[in-house]
Amino acid sequence: MKITKNTVPSVTYQLTVNGEVVDQANAENPLFFLYGVGQMLPDFEKNIDGLEVGAKFNFDVSAEDGYGQPDENQIFQLPVDNFAIEGKVPHDHLTVGAILPMQDQDGNPFNGKVIDKDDEFVTMDFNHPLAGKDLHFEGEIIAVREANEDELSHGHAHGADGTVAH
Ligand code: ZN
Repeated sequence: MKITKNTVPSVTYQLTVNGEVVDQANAENPLFFLYGVGQMLPDFEKNIDGLEVGAKFNFDVSAEDGYGQPDENQIFQLPVDNFAIEGKVPHDHLTVGAILPMQDQDGNPFNGKVIDKDDEFVTMDFNHPLAGKDLHFEGEIIAVREANEDELSHGHAHGADGTVAH
């Protein structure tokens, strides 16, 4: 079966940036997803379109076509008191380079990175960690199946085999 809209491919892959591996999935724990609904980078989907089991892929995605360029409007100075937990600021965790889990107004989780800190303010960068990076993907298609009805109505894959409902 070829990868087309409404199939669920499972793939192994290695994502490298400047030769350094930043993400990967192996055959025991492959990446699987509902193809064609915008869960993956459009260029990732384009490059595996029509492939079948056993096919290997190897392609580049420019920063522009990947996670975009870093946006300075995604960098914020926040008062250090905003980070207080039960009235105490956890200074040990507010170190430059720390990745902090945050929540938006709807409760959706996202990460921010501490890029500067003084006694009054913490400077947080909310850009995607791969913003501004040229991406290189290589890997192999290890399974392709048709999505089931639940997956199509939910808009996501229910596990590699389609049985993990959520
Ligand atoms: Zn679901």
